[in-house]
Amino acid sequence: MDFTLSPEHHLVAKMVRDFVQKEVQPTIKEWDRMQQMTPETLPRMADLGLLGICLPVKYGGQGFDYISLGLVCEELEAVDTSLRVVMSVHMGLNSLAVLQWGTEDQKQRFLIPQAKGEKVAMFGLTEPGVGSDVANMASTARKDGSDYVINGEKMWISLATKAQHILWFAKTDPHAKDPHEGITAFMIDTSTKGVTRGDIHGKLGVRAGSTGWVNCSEVRVPQENRLGAEGEGFKIAMSALDNGRYTVGAGATGLIRASLDASVKYAKERKAFGKEIGKHQLVQQKIAYMVQKYEAARLLYLRAGWMKNRGQRNTRETSLMKWYATDASFEAANDAIQIHGAYGYSDEYDVERYLRNSRGAIIYEGTSEIHQLMQAGYALGYRADGELRCELPAYDPKVWQEE
Ligand SMILES: Cc1cc2nc3c(=O)[nH]c(=O)nc-3n(C[C@H](O)[C@H](O)[C@H](O)COP(=O)(O)OP(=O)(O)OC[C@H]3O[C@@H](n4cnc5c(N)ncnc54)[C@H](O)[C@@H]3O)c2cc1C
Repeated sequence: MDFTLSPEHHLVAKMVRDFVQKEVQPTIKEWDRMQQMTPETLPRMADLGLLGICLPVKYGGQGFDYISLGLVCEELEAVDTSLRVVMSVHMGLNSLAVLQWGTEDQKQRFLIPQAKGEKVAMFGLTEPGVGSDVANMASTARKDGSDYVINGEKMWISLATKAQHILWFAKTDPHAKDPHEGITAFMIDTSTKGVTRGDIHGKLGVRAGSTGWVNCSEVRVPQENRLGAEGEGFKIAMSALDNGRYTVGAGATGLIRASLDASVKYAKERKAFGKEIGKHQLVQQKIAYMVQKYEAARLLYLRAGWMKNRGQRNTRETSLMKWYATDASFEAANDAIQIHGAYGYSDEYDVERYLRNSRGAIIYEGTSEIHQLMQAGYALGYRADGELRCELPAYDPKVWQEE
């Protein structure tokens, strides 16, 4: 493995770093306090090409590779998690699923406007009654002529009131012997009659982001909007999570870096017992652990990105990376608060926001417990990944940059 970053990788990372430092950092605290998404966030991310960063040029994207996607997420979350969440749902969970499983017609109708940022996309798997146990979802899709009629509610949906497309999972066979095989995936335009949605307020973190609910009541969806075959929805959801989790873990790596940078700066400013607190060994220990966590998380996400570039199945490696990086980012943010003492406990400094923002990632896209079960399952030989009918295409610069 050669993890040397290319000039293009450096270019993308610098572009995003400049964007967030200049345009997001100065006001993010206010938006977080107001519990609102900055109105400029989505249009600016679209202008910069981020909403199509790793999609082929012929589908409206920028033609960069999957490692670039990870770097973008690291840089975004180094300032605020809400921006990385956009990449996770719009790109990781939705657009890459359309690239992987969609027909050419679906790529023309959904992927191109999403890659260009003309439409924003979200992912509807969780329901009020089920999160980890998705096979027991209540949402249904009944066939009626050449349409499906969809009923159900999705909960805790990122960008619920902002996105125009949702990848929706519903039971087409509620009585399937194996409930995993009764689920089907659909792309739904949120302007379709019968779709309603709203925001959830009072979240612990990601307050400058949009999280809400989406309801479908007798929503008619043409069969051309079915992603994959009937009964393939569970596999599609899990493969989408391989990409979403990658963005979450890479983003968490950025949050560790932000905690480290803030801690180093403060440790050199603050004095106690006649010296900089950075000279006290117990403060140094916390900083050393942050360095260790940052480097390990970064290597783990670069490995997952490298595997994606090669078209290798990476469910196991991505799960490990997401679990490790999100737990580590919470611990790093917690230590950063400790280093800041009482000041860390107020929103005068960013570290309290890092702690609140880091917490959600230990729950969404597979709780830490689910990832532990997966890792133990692989180690014990109880779990193995079979081949998928459609794999995420390997990155080929020639194909990706073809007009
Ligand atoms: C900010 C935020 C954004 C989100 N965005 C989206 C989104 O865009 N789209 C979407 O579909 N969902 C989204 N979610 C939902 C998220 O994916 C779910 O919350 C998550 O999958 C966990 O489901 P749950 O909350 O229902 O918890 P549950 O599944 O009810 O789990 C509750 C607890 O039980 C534990 N548990 C469950 N099963 C087991 C088991 N077998 N063994 C051991 N422990 C177990 C869990 O680990 C957890 O600690 C979001 C959530 C948040 C907080």
